[in-house]
Amino acid sequence: MSAGRFAPSPSGDLHLGNLRTAILAWLFARASGRRFLVRVEDLDRQRSRPEFERSQLDDLAALGLTWDPPVVRQSERDDLYAAALARLTAAGLTFECFCTRREIADAVRAPHAPPGSYPGTCRDLTETQRAAKRTERPPAIRLRAEADEWTVRDELRGEITGHVDDLVLRRGDGAHAYNLAVVVDDGEQGVDQVVRGADLLDAAPAQAYLAHTLGLPASTYAHVPLALNAEGRRLAKRDRAVTLRDLTPDEAWSLIGASLGVRARSPEALLAELDPWKISLDPWIVTR
Ligand code: GLU
Repeated sequence: MSAGRFAPSPSGDLHLGNLRTAILAWLFARASGRRFLVRVEDLDRQRSRPEFERSQLDDLAALGLTWDPPVVRQSERDDLYAAALARLTAAGLTFECFCTRREIADAVRAPHAPPGSYPGTCRDLTETQRAAKRTERPPAIRLRAEADEWTVRDELRGEITGHVDDLVLRRGDGAHAYNLAVVVDDGEQGVDQVVRGADLLDAAPAQAYLAHTLGLPASTYAHVPLALNAEGRRLAKRDRAVTLRDLTPDEAWSLIGASLGVRARSPEALLAELDPWKISLDPWIVTR
């Protein structure tokens, strides 16, 4: 059976914007008859903390959200990412990249290449050149993308076409990259509906292209509006009183409900009251 999901990174407490995204992800999944999964995206070992994983799951439960077990952790799924990478490499769809961030930032690009995109420097190195460079630094592994653009379907925004980059799949330090993990996990977990913050809209075409390259079915997306503070900046955990450390679940529901124009104070009431496909795409300005 198909599934939707909420995939937080356990690097802090969930703020009101994250909680609203979680509630909407639950609602999209349940309103379309899907399972709802929670995945802990703890690939970044420096920033992830088990205590935040616990508090995030507790906070979701405190809002009355339920999910289908098990909760999986990316830190325990390295074998899956390695297997996917090996498949791409066997198909000739990866290459070693020796560029530093600086070199990529400073590179000369084709006239229409998006800023920051990979300039292709290491795509066509000879084996002799690669052998020489390997003595300087361990390479990252990148996807050899064979399309420039890819189109995804966003349930709120329609068809979105965006740039497909030669994504990093494994970093020079050997860690599998976030883009690979997300795509492999969604595929392996049967996720075919990705609901998440609008900050990840630009990442969707390349992720969907990677999924296609791995032979995974296409997902639909719903990139929901971000929460902003009174200054118009993205809500952050440091903004005052925006997490369940300072708000009761009922206060959080009343703020989130008001932002969605509903009175619901529970997931079930929301399911009866709100059509998630009709939510406003304006950012939510949190002023309190
Ligand atoms: N783990 C990501 C975050 O917390 C979300 C990734 C996704 O939903 O695809 O921002």
